[in-house]
Amino acid sequence: MSRIPNHLFIVDDDLCYGCGACIALCPVDALTLEALLAIVDEPTCTHCEHCIPACPVFALEIIPGAPS
Ligand code: SF4
Ligand code: SF4
Repeated sequence: MSRIPNHLFIVDDDLCYGCGACIALCPVDALTLEALLAIVDEPTCTHCEHCIPACPVFALEIIPGAPS
């Protein structure tokens, strides 16, 4: 599984409430929970999308964008 060029995986921190559902699903441990917010180590994310359907509030997305 390769990353989607010129796209970024993001967590919408206005929506995320820290349920943790996404964390355990990530096969490369790109997600961690900090103070009830999922934090992504974006360069580690493979854009596999496994976690995205697990979020009950649709806080996870892959969007067009350049790495910061
Ligand atoms: S898209 Fe895949 S690699 Fe990226 S955070 Fe979600 S489960 Fe992990
Ligand atoms: S599944 Fe959604 S609400 Fe739950 S920790 Fe992950 S991003 Fe936040």
